[in-house]
Amino acid sequence: MNAFKFSPYLVFYFLCAIFYSTQLHAQNGDQILDGIGETGLIARYVLDDNIKDWSRNNLHGTLKGSEYSFVEDPVFDKVLNLKATSLTYITLPAAVLNDIESLSISGWIYLNSEVQNAEFFNFGKDTTTQFFVALSETKNENGLVTRLTKNSKVIAETKIEALPVKKWQHITVVIDFPAQTMHTYINGELAKTAGDLKFNLDEIFGENPKITIGKSLDGKLHDFRIYRIPLSENQINTIYNNSLKGEEGVVNERKELEDDLPQFPKDTPQLYNQFLTGVFDVTVTTLVGQLPRLPRYVNGAYKKGINGPQVRVLWPAPTDNASVLKTGTYEVTGNVPGTSFKPKATVTVTTASTQNTPERKLETFDLSAVSLNADSKGHSSKFIENRDKFINTLVDTNPDAFLYMFRNAFGQPQPEGAEPLGVWDSQETKLRGHATGHYLTAIAQAYASTSYNVTLQKAFAEKIDYMVNTLYELSQRSGKPKTAGGSFVSEPTAVPVAAGKTGYDSDLSEAGIRNDYWNWGIGFISAYPPDQFIMLEHGAKYGTENTKIWAPYYTLHKILAGLMDVYEVTGNEKALEIAKGMGDWVHARLGQVPTETLISMWNTYIAGEFGGMNEAMARLSRITNEPRFLETAKLFDNIDMFYGDAQHSHGLAKNVDTFRGLHANQHIPQIVGALEMYRDSNAPEYFKVADNFWYKTKNDYMYSIGGVAGARNPANAECFVSQPATLYENGLSSGGQNETCGTYNMLKLTRNLFLYDQRPEYMDYYEQGLYNQILASVAEDSPANTYHIPLRPGSQKHFGNADMKGFTCCNGTALESSTKLQNSIYFKNESNTALYVNLYIPSTLDWKERNITIKQVTTFPKEDHTLLTVNGKGKFDLNVRVPGWATGGFIVKINGKIQKIKAMPGTYISINRTWKNGDTVELTMPFQFHLDPVMDQQNIASLFYGPVLLAAQEDAPRKDWRKIVLKANNLGETILGNPEHLEFTIDGVNFKPFYETYGRHSVYLDVALE
Ligand SMILES: [Zn+2]
Repeated sequence: MNAFKFSPYLVFYFLCAIFYSTQLHAQNGDQILDGIGETGLIARYVLDDNIKDWSRNNLHGTLKGSEYSFVEDPVFDKVLNLKATSLTYITLPAAVLNDIESLSISGWIYLNSEVQNAEFFNFGKDTTTQFFVALSETKNENGLVTRLTKNSKVIAETKIEALPVKKWQHITVVIDFPAQTMHTYINGELAKTAGDLKFNLDEIFGENPKITIGKSLDGKLHDFRIYRIPLSENQINTIYNNSLKGEEGVVNERKELEDDLPQFPKDTPQLYNQFLTGVFDVTVTTLVGQLPRLPRYVNGAYKKGINGPQVRVLWPAPTDNASVLKTGTYEVTGNVPGTSFKPKATVTVTTASTQNTPERKLETFDLSAVSLNADSKGHSSKFIENRDKFINTLVDTNPDAFLYMFRNAFGQPQPEGAEPLGVWDSQETKLRGHATGHYLTAIAQAYASTSYNVTLQKAFAEKIDYMVNTLYELSQRSGKPKTAGGSFVSEPTAVPVAAGKTGYDSDLSEAGIRNDYWNWGIGFISAYPPDQFIMLEHGAKYGTENTKIWAPYYTLHKILAGLMDVYEVTGNEKALEIAKGMGDWVHARLGQVPTETLISMWNTYIAGEFGGMNEAMARLSRITNEPRFLETAKLFDNIDMFYGDAQHSHGLAKNVDTFRGLHANQHIPQIVGALEMYRDSNAPEYFKVADNFWYKTKNDYMYSIGGVAGARNPANAECFVSQPATLYENGLSSGGQNETCGTYNMLKLTRNLFLYDQRPEYMDYYEQGLYNQILASVAEDSPANTYHIPLRPGSQKHFGNADMKGFTCCNGTALESSTKLQNSIYFKNESNTALYVNLYIPSTLDWKERNITIKQVTTFPKEDHTLLTVNGKGKFDLNVRVPGWATGGFIVKINGKIQKIKAMPGTYISINRTWKNGDTVELTMPFQFHLDPVMDQQNIASLFYGPVLLAAQEDAPRKDWRKIVLKANNLGETILGNPEHLEFTIDGVNFKPFYETYGRHSVYLDVALE
C-alpha cells in the first residue's frame, strides 16, 4: 500500500515517473512532496488551523495549555501563534519516533520576542536524555543550540547565532545515523555540523519518548515536518524555496539522485566479468507484435582456469512493440557490466496461427492436509517458531477491535470492552477495515492449520463465527428500511448524497460520518459508507481532505478475500452470502461506468489501488458458478498495463514492460488477478500478462532477499525502479526497500504460475523469497514484523505491531503469511497420480485422495539432506525439486540405495514407481556458496549458502559497502564456519542467515574475486 501526503492549500498532482521522458505509465497522485518520496516522511503538521498530521501515518498532535491561537499571516496565510508559556505547547505521539534510523526535522518559525528557555522542539526520554533545539537566550547561553544529551552528558552539539526576531526563519536539523553526524541548517543553508559522534537514537528516545514543540516560545510556527531519512542540503533548499514560492511539491525535471550511495569507477572489476574473454551471441524467435523474451543470462568464455557462471546481459527495454510489427529479422545489442562486450541477439519475427498457453495441471493441498513438524533433532523449525508467534498472539485478539469500524459505519453500539484498532484502521483513516480482511483470512488459516491443538482450533472457530455473524447482520441492513415502512434505497447505483451534505465526502469523523445504511444499496459492506467508491468514479484523488479518498477497492479486496477464505475453510454460508451481496453491489456500480473512466480510475495513484479485486471477483464467480462476477472481474483490467492502451496495442500481454517506475504492491495483485481470470476465461492474454510480468520482475527488479520495490528514482521506496535492470543506478532507496507485502504477493503469483507451468525457476524464487524475506520479516520474540526491509550497508530491520493492534499493509499480509507457511511444500496433479515436493521443510502431508501420508524428516537448511517416508501404497510419480543452487550434485537414495539419476540443478526429477508402505526417499544436495550480484553493479553482491542468504553481522551503521575478497574458483575456500549452525566468518566478520539476523546487517557486500 502506500502513502499519504497532502497539501491543504495547494492541489497538485504529478507523475510518479515524470523524471523519465520515456516513462509510459504515469500515475496521478501526490506522493512526492518537494521531490522527497512520502515513504521518507514520518509526519507533517501544516499548523494552519489544527495539529493534524497530514501524512498517511495519522500521528496527530495535541495542543496543551490555552495560550495559543491560529492567526492570519502575510507569508503563510494562517499559522499557529504561541504565547510564551511553558504550559502551552504541542505534543506528538511517541509513535513518531518508532523505527527510526536517521532523523530530519524541519519547520518555519517566527519569533515575536526572545524568551529564555524557548524551544523549537524537544524529543527525549527525560530531561537528561534528549534531543532539542533551544531557540534563544537561555540562562547561560546566547544563540541557537542544537543538542543531543545522554544522562546529562552532551553527545553532540552545534551553536549558532540566535535567530532574529520578527522574521520567518526555516530551521532544519539532520541526524545522519550511518554517518554519525548532526547538521543544523538555517534557511536552506548549512550553518553548522557536529561530526564523528557516537550515539544510538534508540538510547536517546527510549521506549516512550516525550515529544514537544514550541515550549515557552513567543512566536509563530508553520509546516513542521519529521523525516526518517537524512535530508540532503539540496532537498532542504528545495523545501525552503518551494515554501516561499508557493510551489510546494512541484517536480518538473529529473534531478540528480539525492543520496550518497557509493559510486564505482567504470573499470571496477565486477565479479567474474573481469575474467571474461568473450560473450556468446544468441538467436531468439518471437511472434509478430510480441517483444522477444531475451535471455537475461547467456554463455560466456572465461580466461583459462576460471570456471565462471552464465553472464548477465543488460538488454534495451523498449516501451512499445514497434520493433516487431512485421515478420523478418533484426538485431538487439546488449551490454555486460564492467566490460566492453556487446553481445547481440538476432531476433526472428514470425507469424503463427495459434498460440498455446498452458492448462492448469496441478492442485494445491488444503492447509489442513499439511502439518509442520519439529526438525529431525526435535527442535522447532524457523517455520514453527514464526507460526507460533502469530498463532499465540492471534488467539488472544479481541474480534470486537476488528469489527469496531464496521459497527461505527453502520451507527451501531460497540460491545463493552471494544477498542478500535490504531494505525490504518483508526476513526478518520480512510483505509479502515483493511486489517479486518487480513484478520478473517488469518483466523481461517489458523483454524485450518491448528489441528494439532483442539483448544486453539476451537478458539479460532469461535472467532470466525462471531466475526461472520456480526458482519452478516450489518450487511443485511444495507439498502433496507431501518424500521418497517421507512424510506430506503436498495439500488446500489442510486445511493444518494447523505442528508444535510452537498456532495459525497469521505468524512469519517465521529461528527461527520453518515450512518444511513438504509440508503446504501443492497449488499453493501465496508468499514466506511459507500461515498469513497462513488467519489472514485467521479475522479477523486488520494489524500486526507474530505474531498479525497484512500483506496476503497483495496480495502474491499481484503474483506472479500477474507470472507471467501472463511467459506472455503469452514463452509460458513453466511460468509459467502456477504461476499455475494457485495459482489453484486460492485457489479451494479462498475457495470455502468464507461471504460475510459475505468482506465483512468485504475491508473490513479493509490486511490485506484484495488488490491486483487479482479482475483476476488473471479474466485467468487468460480465458487458461486455465477458468470456475472467474472464479468465484474474484467472491469478491473488495468488496460494500460496489460495492453498498452485502449486499442490493446502492446502492453504486458505482448511482453512490453509497462510497469517500470510504478508502485509495486499496487500492481502485483492485479497480475495475480489476471492469472485467476485466465483460469476461468481461458483468454491467453491473461496468462501472458502474468508470465511476462513474473519473468521481468524476477530478473529485472528483484533484490537478493526476494523483494522487488525500492526506487530512488522515482523517489518512492515503494515503486519499481524507473527503468528495468537498474537496481544500483535507481534502486536501493535510503528510505528502505522491499515492502514486505509486495513479496507476499510475488510468492502468491509464483505459486499460482507453477500450477500451470512447472518451471523449476518458479519454486527457486519461491524458496528464495520465503526463507530470505518472509521468514526474515518477523521479530525475534514476537509477531512484530517489517514494512520495508532496508538493504543498505549496516542497516537494521524494524518490526511493528507486536500486539496486533494497529496494522499497516505489511502487518496485514504478515498475519496471512505466517499462518500458511506450509502451503507450498507439496502440490499434486489434478488426477492425483503425481506428487510434487517443492520445499524441504520438516512436515507431514496427508494425501487423502490416495490414502497416503508422506513424512519429511530433516533439519534443512541446517543440513543438506531430507528423508521422505511413504505411508500407504500405490503408483504415483514423485517429483522432487533439484534446486537451481544445487550445483554440487543431487543424490537420490530409495530405501537406502543410490539411484542412477542424472539430476541437473534447476529441474524436477520424476520418480515413477509403485510405492510400498514404508518406502523411503533420501535426497542429498550438498550446499555450495554462491553470489547473487546486483545486475548493473555486480561487485555488489549477496552471499548465499545453498538457499540461505548470509548477512554480515554489523555492530555499527556504515556508509560504505563491506568489502570481502573470495577465491574465484572456490568461494568457500576462505570462509570458515559451522554449516550445522549456518554461522560463518570471513576475515573475522560473522555471517548468519538473514532470517536469524535482528541487529545491524550487511546483506550486500562489495566482493572482489582473486
Ligand atoms: Zn506493505
